[in-house]
Amino acid sequence: MENNTEHVHCLIIGSGPAGYTAAIYAARANLKPVLYQGIQPGGQLTITTEVENYPGYPEGVQGPEMMIDFEKQAARMGADIRYGMATKVDFMEPPFKVWIDEEKLITADSVIISTGASAKWLGLESEQRLNGYGVSACAVCDGFFFKGKEVAIVGAGDTAAEEALYLSKLCSTVHMLVRRDQMRASKIMQDRVFKTENIKVYWNTSTQEVLGEKKVEAVRIMNHETNTTADIPVSAFFVAIGHKPNSDIFKGWLEMDDAGYLLTTPGTSKTIIEGVFAAGDVQDKIYRQAVTAAGSGCMAALDAERYLAMKGI
Ligand code: NDP
Repeated sequence: MENNTEHVHCLIIGSGPAGYTAAIYAARANLKPVLYQGIQPGGQLTITTEVENYPGYPEGVQGPEMMIDFEKQAARMGADIRYGMATKVDFMEPPFKVWIDEEKLITADSVIISTGASAKWLGLESEQRLNGYGVSACAVCDGFFFKGKEVAIVGAGDTAAEEALYLSKLCSTVHMLVRRDQMRASKIMQDRVFKTENIKVYWNTSTQEVLGEKKVEAVRIMNHETNTTADIPVSAFFVAIGHKPNSDIFKGWLEMDDAGYLLTTPGTSKTIIEGVFAAGDVQDKIYRQAVTAAGSGCMAALDAERYLAMKGI
């Protein structure tokens, strides 16, 4: 076990825009960051197609390519980027203990958590097959590609309402599929949805299948009251049934809300444990954008730098 233990000054867990940005800042501040990429190197952006809303890419960029750029920049600054997944932590006292792949033990003077979140999916085979070909879990990322087209969105929370409203400004009709006879979204968001003429709400409706060979062509729905099915021709199918923050291993150590989002002191990346910081989607259920995640990764590195300086380590 002894040989499999390593001490690092600044450990970064996760490799989306938050983690890589934290790595760039921490490396430039000479914190010698070690970053473990996790199960999906590059994070959620690696499963999107074109990104057009990240400043600095005037022609747009493919999500996976952008994350390679982030990684290269962090590596060039001197960050030590490694494959591996944090599987257990012990934050009792510094140095903090983090196990990688259940075998290697890292002890760290400071830890930046940027493990992200994962979109929830319905679990249909057709949904996975057409992912990136009209199926998307991010209206803000992909809605633009369906300008003037009919689209469907499943979900009835604030995210679904917000994304349906966003899509209604771009698309000709938004078919909103709600599985119960009411929505979970806040009243104000529901009112906005109901007042928007080109959003058509389908109550008591579930999605049976996304139809299309190479791209989305229609969605097959089922009404539970009438027990009838129907096919709605659409060019895109957006899934907005919630996200799951990747925070399971921090349970019992850090404060989180009911959904598992890590809580940080507002305006900072500080968690309840001094020396442990959180950035990106694992602590943000509202904005969830690459650029906001990157910004919070920068905050976490600056917070870590100040913490380490204050402690004199
Ligand atoms: P929520 O968990 O609030 O809502 C998920 C929605 O998806 C529910 O309506 C749920 O239906 C539906 N759903 C879940 N599984 C399925 C399924 N298999 N088939 C069909 N529908 C399904 O997630 P959100 O992402 O909407 O919101 C997360 C949190 O973030 C909330 O607290 C929300 O208020 C907050 N938020 C706030 C915003 C703001 O203030 N501007 C913007 C976005 C989010 P059912 O209701 O039947 O369970």
